[in-house]
Amino acid sequence: MRNLKQIPKRSAVPTALTWDLTTIYPDDAAFKAAVKDVQAEATKMAAMKGQLSQSGADLYRVTKANFDLERQLERVYVYASLKNDQDTGDAAAQALMGQAEGLLATVGAAASWFEPEVLALDPADLQKLIDAEPKLAAYQHIFDVLGQQRAHTLSVQEEKLLAGASDIFAASSKTYSVLSDADLKFPVVQDEKGDDVRLSEGLYGVLLESTTPAVREQAFKALYSVYQQFRHTFASTLASEVKTHNFNADVRHYASAREAAMSANNVPAVVYDTLVKTVNDHLDSLHQYVNLRKEILGLPELHMYDLYTPITGEPSLSYTYEEAQQEALKALSVLGPDYVANVQKMFDTRAIDVVENEGKRTGAYSGGMYDTKPYILLNWQDSLESLFTLVHEMGHSMHSHYTRTNQPYQYGEYSIFVAEIASTTNENLLTDYLLKTQTDPQVRAYVLNHYLDGFKGTVYRQTQFAEFEDYIHTQAAAGETLTADFMSKFYGDLNRRYYGDGVVSDPQIADEWTRIPHFYYNYYVYQYSTGFAAATTLAQRVLSGDDAKREAYLNYLKSGSSDLPLNVMKKAGVDMTQPDYLQTAFKTFDDRLAEFSQLAHELKK
Ligand SMILES: [Zn+2]
Repeated sequence: MRNLKQIPKRSAVPTALTWDLTTIYPDDAAFKAAVKDVQAEATKMAAMKGQLSQSGADLYRVTKANFDLERQLERVYVYASLKNDQDTGDAAAQALMGQAEGLLATVGAAASWFEPEVLALDPADLQKLIDAEPKLAAYQHIFDVLGQQRAHTLSVQEEKLLAGASDIFAASSKTYSVLSDADLKFPVVQDEKGDDVRLSEGLYGVLLESTTPAVREQAFKALYSVYQQFRHTFASTLASEVKTHNFNADVRHYASAREAAMSANNVPAVVYDTLVKTVNDHLDSLHQYVNLRKEILGLPELHMYDLYTPITGEPSLSYTYEEAQQEALKALSVLGPDYVANVQKMFDTRAIDVVENEGKRTGAYSGGMYDTKPYILLNWQDSLESLFTLVHEMGHSMHSHYTRTNQPYQYGEYSIFVAEIASTTNENLLTDYLLKTQTDPQVRAYVLNHYLDGFKGTVYRQTQFAEFEDYIHTQAAAGETLTADFMSKFYGDLNRRYYGDGVVSDPQIADEWTRIPHFYYNYYVYQYSTGFAAATTLAQRVLSGDDAKREAYLNYLKSGSSDLPLNVMKKAGVDMTQPDYLQTAFKTFDDRLAEFSQLAHELKK
């Protein structure tokens, strides 16, 4: 477990380890001037209502104004949010954030008529307008994607009614958050040192990684004792959330909530079905992994709370930030000299906010917008885990860089469905690099275990979630009442099917659905699984040494949202409507499991 150390104040962090936000605005005064500009532009945008169908030139003028306004707003928003995240206790930054949020609402209201007005046009008339103005060719794909919503957009009155009820539709999810984040109080348990600690969801994750079995067991039992007291309330919030998804899908003429959610990202249902089927075909690999875990940990029984502790103990490898930069550059060198040069530029131009300070937002992310550099927020620790985080976020940042330098603004963002593929591919490249350069069997075993646990937690676990999510939605649509017992029965059976006989089915795990916030995200989780599997396959293609495959991968990074996500992935070499990319990923899992098994047995001797 991590030692408590002194965290510096923001003002004490060396400038070289902070991000440089002056390239967005030289100072807060410039930010405030920009806010005024955006307000003025928003007023102009509001006045353009009703003009876009007059001619091709008018459609272009209004469309361009709409994107220009969004672009200006983003710059303001990014500056304020980065400033706020670097020190959330800074009152001045909070004030900037408040201004940016206010502006977001202003712009939203000023431009809210744009899409409905486009959709109100007859498709043939819209196309005539587009064809009449050559500059609109650069927006054709925007209009095509928007046009697909036409069949699912209701009358102005009905849309108004639905929009007015949006807060009511969000009530279950809000109640769930308030209950689990604010109201639930967890008991005191003992940590690894025997000290009393107040349990929380965050601490639970840490305690489950403890190498002391009793610490894990106690944390698991204490956590579930609280959730189980409220399982009927959680069943009620989840059931209502599911009803909301089903209702919205139904009134918008979708066949199911799943179709509605997936078509919002232009992903066909076959991607989901292929994932679930192929994962189920490979559950034996997970069972093998679980049995190996039980054997190496030397436990008489393996429980659900024994699945997160590293099989090989703590890693015997650590990196300073400077060392990690060098390792990242080497690991990513297979992506070619241009990619490496751009990573180096991130290091050299203060694009990364490296170390922890008081009030800094936790975790890590890649941010920025079209007109800024891609920024990375880290909370650096001298660890292998931090090196993985660095290459992960660098994957997002390079995806942003290549998209923004190759696409016009309107295609300068990429969809959620393809976003995690770029970051996870980099993690795979790092795994491969470490396995090629590290000779110490202890280190190799740790790296292999890291990959296997990532695969288990992403490809298997998120598909298990996806199956549960689809089951409760289809059952509710068919008229079933989603009681706590009904959901727990299915969840318990599902969990047993996934992990097999090697794990003791603790009764608590059947209620795990009570504490998974993602079940309120409406068919979101499957993308974690498809993304991880696609990344494993893409990393192999990059590592094959075939220049054409590497170029195809870089072209994916450059595509942004200029094409449908599935087409982008297909051109990169992964057809996500077919099981092949998943099978390649499972083959890698099996190979690494075999190598890990051998190493772990040798180390045990
Ligand atoms: Zn990510």
